[in-house]
Amino acid sequence: MKDLIAEFKKIIDNSKKIVIFTGAGISYESGIPTYRGTGGVWSKYDPEIYANINVFIQDSSYYWNYFKDERYPTIKNAKPNIAHKKIVELEKKGKIYRVITQNIDGLHQQAGSSHVIELHGNTRQINCLKCKKQYSMDEIFEKLKKELPPLCSCGGRLKTNTVLFGESLPISALDEAETASKNCDLFLVLGSSLVVYPAANLPIIAKKNKSKLVIINIDPTPFDDIADIVINKSASEVLSKI
Ligand SMILES: [Zn+2]
Repeated sequence: MKDLIAEFKKIIDNSKKIVIFTGAGISYESGIPTYRGTGGVWSKYDPEIYANINVFIQDSSYYWNYFKDERYPTIKNAKPNIAHKKIVELEKKGKIYRVITQNIDGLHQQAGSSHVIELHGNTRQINCLKCKKQYSMDEIFEKLKKELPPLCSCGGRLKTNTVLFGESLPISALDEAETASKNCDLFLVLGSSLVVYPAANLPIIAKKNKSKLVIINIDPTPFDDIADIVINKSASEVLSKI
């Protein structure tokens, strides 16, 4: 472990264009439950009902119930943790090229990261699908106490700016993520098991373009064998040592 940290530090020192790739693991350390696996959010709320675009179009009450009871309270109370803050420190040293995230909680921006690519959108942004008016999470939470599903003042339907099951990832974010992965000298995975495609292609793109690959995740990932270093610890535990 000690040797791995020393080796990791050396790679960081030698890198000038780091792409950070984060998943649910880093948010978990801020108190946001993970989605998959035993005890995950999707074991309580079947995503094919509560977070599926086809159900949402027919009846968005399922989604908004889930938002009110589960998503809003956890995200509202979450604060950036040491891993988010360390990424900002690295940015101040001019080392970060892009932060690509699978998370929808906006914690990287809250911590102060500038170039964040959100592959699955951001749940803090809520828009009217008709007039595009924007609402905050707090405004919608208040609305949800009286109105289900909540509607815009124009009568239009509202949706969080997140990718639901059955929707494709935003093309522009995906393009940016691929370009970043081609151009980095270190692709650093923090708290993602790299199983969700197409995002899980990015480490391969990076590696093909001669970037180093470091994976810090509690559990093994399918890309451990092509990584330069794998550390099976939490992101905050490892980053607090650099
Ligand atoms: Zn509207």
